[in-house]
Order: sequence, then structure tokens, then C-alpha cells
Amino acid sequence: MSQPFIPFTKPTIDEATIAAVADVLRSGWITSGPKVLEFESALSAYLGGATVRCFANGTATMKIALQVAGIGPGDEVITTPISWVATSNVILAVGAKPVFVDIDPKTRNLDLHQVQSAINNKTKAIMPVYLAGLPLDIDALYTIAENHQLRVIEDAAQALGSSWNGLRIGAKGRHDLVSFSFQANKNLTTIEGGCLVFNTDRYGGDQVSLAEKLRLQGLVRHGPDGMEVDVLGGKDNLTDVNAVIGLHQLKQLERFQEQRIALARHYFDRFEQSGLSKIGLGLPIADFVNSNWHMFQVLLPLERLGQTRSQIMLVLKERGIGTGVHYPAITGFALYRQRGYSPEATPVANQIGQSILTLPLFPTMTEADIDRVVKALQEVLA
Ligand SMILES: *Cc1c(COP(=O)(O)O)cnc(C)c1O
Repeated sequence: MSQPFIPFTKPTIDEATIAAVADVLRSGWITSGPKVLEFESALSAYLGGATVRCFANGTATMKIALQVAGIGPGDEVITTPISWVATSNVILAVGAKPVFVDIDPKTRNLDLHQVQSAINNKTKAIMPVYLAGLPLDIDALYTIAENHQLRVIEDAAQALGSSWNGLRIGAKGRHDLVSFSFQANKNLTTIEGGCLVFNTDRYGGDQVSLAEKLRLQGLVRHGPDGMEVDVLGGKDNLTDVNAVIGLHQLKQLERFQEQRIALARHYFDRFEQSGLSKIGLGLPIADFVNSNWHMFQVLLPLERLGQTRSQIMLVLKERGIGTGVHYPAITGFALYRQRGYSPEATPVANQIGQSILTLPLFPTMTEADIDRVVKALQEVLA
């Protein structure tokens, strides 16, 4: 009696969204147009009036963020080894140097003491990553940045809907540049997509117009007045088809998040009842105030288990349970080793990268699904 497979994540797309996509496809205008502008305004409203621009994906968004912050060859950007490789790839892509510091095992994000020690006269920016949607101490982060006159580019790819001190991440206020992703697995998806939030109070509108140029070939104008290009841009615009999906997702985002929170609570209850935390399974911080619960990630006590993470993932898969690894330390990849990095340089991150496991969590999951996951884990780890 095999039960249905539970993937580690699954997008929630309703019929109204599908119908809206069909409308755009029939409309005669399918690339960037009115739906992108509408989506940017809706995101801005969601973020307390902040200035928001959309891009083709989160990676392009972060690369453009670095470019508008003026980061390039000779500059250093402090970041975490535990992220999707896009975070540091874009630092390399603009010709700057990623400086990886170790992480705080609680937030699984930058250890801010280590950030302080890594700052030197080449440092231009700090790039934190809100893994699983959990923010770090935003006040402490910006205090460091302000003391050293550094830019902050927040990789909030996973953190739309998360908050700090009662304000959403990216909300108009203290933030510098905040990058979100709308890739298929994220809490809000446009299939592929991303957006950047600017602090126009502090920096004015120049960075916004630069970002607009960078996302479309550096085009200053085109139309009856002729055409002009004055910077090297790419082709990183979002389409109206993607934007209309985002508009429908945004309407449902709070409900999605409530469902995620309720399911995360159920995980904690079940882990407590099953005694799994006693065997040394590392649970995430039970933050039901700030986190959007993008993922539910545990740390496997591999040294006690005598099984590898891959073996455990395979057995769970055979029982119909999908899991994921987000992420091994970036510094272990060949591209990074070739450049002189090594995962051993950041032992906490290295350890977490080896033992972290993403369990299923998505809005349409049921409590019974979670019971199945916890029971299977209990048997596999026994
Ligand atoms: C998804 C993600 C990105 C990249 O976003 P894409 O839209 O896939 O380009 C970057 N950083 C983190 C932490 C992510 O999870």
C-alpha cells in the first residue's frame, strides 16, 4: 500500500491564476508591460511604499544590486558560505571578491562578530542570506554597516513575508538594497523572477534608473526621439506572463504563510512527542514572529547515526518522502576551491552544510503528511 509521494516543496497555483495567464497570452502584449508595472506597485504596497523594480530572476536582481551599489574589481563583499551558489557567483560576476565568514549556528546566517573581524579597507558591502526565510538581527547588521560605511545587499530570496521588529524585510525604512526571488520553489513564485527594493530616501532615484537601464541593454530611451545606450546592460526584464502570476500569488501570500506557520508548529509538536530532539536532531529556531517558514530544515546527528545523509535521503524517498539539501558550503565547489577557498576555513558552516536536511513544507501539505514525515524519520534514525 504505497502512499502518495510528498515532495519537499510544491507551488500552489490556482485556477484564477491560470485563467489570468491565458488572458495575458491572448492580449497581444506578452513581454514586459502593464502587468509588470502593476506587480511592482502591488509589491511596493506590500512593502510599505518602498521603491521596487522587477527582474527576470533573483540572480539577475542581485547582480544588478551589486552594480548599482558600484561594486566591482578590487572590492570585497562579505557573505555566508551557506547559500545557493548564486549569492557568491554574482559577486564574482561583477569582478569583486567574495569573503566568506563563518555562520551563527542558531540563525544559520552570518556571524556578525566574524563580519566585524573581516572588514578591511577593500570591504564595500555585506551580503547576508536569510536561509529558510529566517532573518538575522537587522539592527545589529545595519549598525555595523553604518559604522564602517558599507553597503548592505540583503539576499532575501527566501524571505518575502519575513519580518524584523514588526516590519517586513524590505519594507520602506532602514534597509539598503533588498533582493527577492520568485523562482518556482519560493513562497511567492512567478515561475522565474525577482525584485529589488531600493532606499530612495537615502540614495535618491539614480540607482533606480541605473537598474532600469541595466535590465534592458543599457537603453536610455527609444521611441520617436531616437535611441540611446550609455551603459552595458543585459536582458533581465520580467515578462507580463510572469508578473500576472505574481499578482495572483501576492494576494494569497499571507494565507500561504499562515499555512506554513501552522505546519511548522505541527513539526515542532510532533518532534517533541516523538522524542526525536533527544537523539540530537538539530531543529531550527522556533521563530513564529519573524520567519516566513520558507523551509523546515533539520541538522542530522551524522556522527551518531553511522549513515550518510544521502543514505537517509534515499530511504526516505523509498518511503515516499522528498527531502533536499540547502545547501552544502559554497566554498567546497570546484570553482571556489580553484580560487583558493575551502570549506574547512569556516568550520561551523562546513558542519551545517554537511548535516542540513530540508523536510517537506508547502502550503497544501496536511498535518497527516507531517506525521508521515516524522514517523519515517523516527524509523530511519532509530
Ligand atoms: C532562489 C535563491 C537565489 C536565486 O534566485 P533565482 O531566482 O533562482 O535566480 C539566490 N539566493 C538564494 C538564497 C535563493 O534561495
